[in-house]
Parts: sequence; C-alpha cells; structure tokens
Amino acid sequence: MTDLPVIKDIRLTPVVVPLARPMRTASGALPDCALGLIDIETDADVVGQAYIFAYTPRVLRALESLTEEIKDVVIGKSIAPEERFGDFQATFRLLGIQGLLGMVIAGIDMALWDALGKSMNEPVCRLLGADPRPIQAYDSYGLLDISADQEALEQTVARGFRAIKIKLGGSDVAEDVARTAFSRGVVGPDVQIMVDYNQSLDVSEALNRIERLAEFDISWIEEPVPAEDLEGHRAVKEASHVPVQTGENWWFPAGATQAINAEASDYIMPDIMKIGGFTGWIQVADVAKSKRLPLSSHAFVEQSAHALAATPTAHWLEYLDKARPILVHGYDLVDGCVTARGPGLGIAWDQEAVNRYRI
Ligand SMILES: [Mg+2]
Repeated sequence: MTDLPVIKDIRLTPVVVPLARPMRTASGALPDCALGLIDIETDADVVGQAYIFAYTPRVLRALESLTEEIKDVVIGKSIAPEERFGDFQATFRLLGIQGLLGMVIAGIDMALWDALGKSMNEPVCRLLGADPRPIQAYDSYGLLDISADQEALEQTVARGFRAIKIKLGGSDVAEDVARTAFSRGVVGPDVQIMVDYNQSLDVSEALNRIERLAEFDISWIEEPVPAEDLEGHRAVKEASHVPVQTGENWWFPAGATQAINAEASDYIMPDIMKIGGFTGWIQVADVAKSKRLPLSSHAFVEQSAHALAATPTAHWLEYLDKARPILVHGYDLVDGCVTARGPGLGIAWDQEAVNRYRI
C-alpha cells in the first residue's frame, strides 16, 4: 500500500462567467455566474480541482482570502477527504462552519475527492462505491419570458430533455398560470414540468397557487416558502397534491437531517456545496435511503453526476450548466441523461477562459 499524496498548497481563483441563459428568479436575478475555482497542489503528479458557486461576485474576494487564511489547517497532510473535513470541523468548532467558511471547506472537500480519484485513476463515484451511470436530467429555467422563450423550450425538447423546471412567483397568480400554460403548450404532455418558487410565498398563498396550477400536471413544487420554515414546508406538503421539493439551502448533514426529521418535503435536493461536498453528501444519501426519499441535485452538474451515481434514491439531476465556459470539456446530455466520467471529477480548467473571466 502506497501513501496518499500530501497537500502542498491550495488556492481559489475567482471568476465571473457568462450564463448561456441569464437566470431570473422570484428572489433575485443571476445575470452571470460567480465561481471559485479551487486547485489543490500535492507532492505527487496530481492537482485536485473543483469549483464552488458564490451566487454573487461580491463575496468572491472574501472566499479567495478565506482560502488563503485557512489552508494551513490541512497543508502537509494527506489528501484523505473525510479526515481533512474532520480537521476543519475541529478547528472551527466554536465558530461553526456555515456560510462562506463552509463553502470553502466544501470546495476543498470536492477538490480532495478529485485528487483522490486522479491518484487512483478512477472516477470519484467509484470511490463512493458506484460505477458511472446515466442520471436523468432536467433543463433548468428561470422566470420565463413568454414572448421570447418559445424557441429555447423547443430546443430543450429537441436536445432530449424529458423534464424542465421553471421559476414562478414574484408576480400575481395569473402570471404563474400563463407561464405554466405556455410551458406545457410548448413542451407537450410527455415532458415533466417542475416549478420553483424560490422561497417567495407563504403557506396559504402556496396552496392557492398549487390549486390554480392543477391542470398542468406539475411534478414538484420547490421551495414554496422560506427555506428555514420547515413547519411551513410540511404544512404545504400535507395539503398539496403536488409533491414538495426542497433542500438546496440546507447547510451540512445536520441541517438536512433536521429538515428530513421535520418531514418538510416529499423529495429532497441537497446542494453539494452547502451540504459539505461529497463527504457531506454521502451522509445525507444514507439518510435518504433509510427514509426512501427521492434525492435530486442542485446545480453543480459534474460533481452531482458523480454524487447521484452513488445515491441509492437518486431522482433527477438539475442541468444548470454554469461551469462550462471555464471547462475544457463540459458534461453533455445524452438521451436525456448525464453520466459521470473520470479520472476524479473528469474536468479540467480551460486556462485561457479562466484568464479571461478572472476578476
Ligand atoms: Mg431552486
């Protein structure tokens, strides 16, 4: 048995990349995409790489300097991801690791799993106990513009997607009905439609809108009420004939477990960054298995393809292809599905693009 590579240095490169389809939601717009690219140098011929999603460019510099400030916790140690996660947890026990610190720790975790996969010449999913397999993916839209988005929706169907998600809310119910009717009309009866309210309603308004959308055969309603309102989610779930989906704002397995124990939703969709990288994800996948909860992903196409392959209750992969502009090869859709590849996460930075979008 040979020793694992040892961590020599860690850096985060802040970039702001264009989105192929700028995203509008009921709780704010994302005109472009702020990413932190993490590189972990080792004493072997292996560089661990992964990215985190910052939601806003305003925090990218802070994430960059935070990475610089905390990297000494793990430098000089092996790339064993779960042990290094434990080092960070122990170091920041008093502070707690939610927020920007948690994003950096999760990013380092994902880059360590990438390094581990590369050092063994295996895809990350295989280290998690699963072969790469096709995961059904849905195309993820923002608030639709009925006068402009017909062609995009037609292309989605032509590309082979068998489900789409649209954002709703931020306006009156008539607008929701119009957007949903428009979507159903364009994609036809055989493509599933999920809707996402991005935390913008209260319980009674959520139930009212679900009723008004009944005729359009909705597959799930996502974050109808504020993410931290677990009781509200449960109240919607209990009265709704449409399954309730939530989870992208749960922090770490502890947050997920709290929500799952509160029976806040029919489906769950942890974000692989906020849940604590692969190390956090596999714990939540275990809980989901024991509760038979269908588990979908949030953003992070590449990392999620690996994580879902190793998730017994894997449901849908969200195809929100944010990182493609800075990758040599993105993850493509084949027959409506995305399949993980290796070694590691199977991604590499397009250095020219990184230089172009670096801030
Ligand atoms: Mg969402």
